Amino acid sequence: MVKVSCHDYGYDCDFTVTGEVDEVVEKYNHHSEEEHGIEYVKEDLQQRFMELETSQ
Ligand SMILES: [Zn+2]
Repeated sequence: MVKVSCHDYGYDCDFTVTGEVDEVVEKYNHHSEEEHGIEYVKEDLQQRFMELETSQ
């Protein structure tokens, strides 16, 4: 499980998402695109979020 909060990525935004890496990648990317107009490369997010998972 990973927990990602938009605030950690430099946005003044209280969106958080918790779940399995793949799920979080989908949800975060969707949120980011809708709210901030930024679509990330899925593989990049996956890698970032997997690092969060192992460091917890
Ligand atoms: Zn956000």
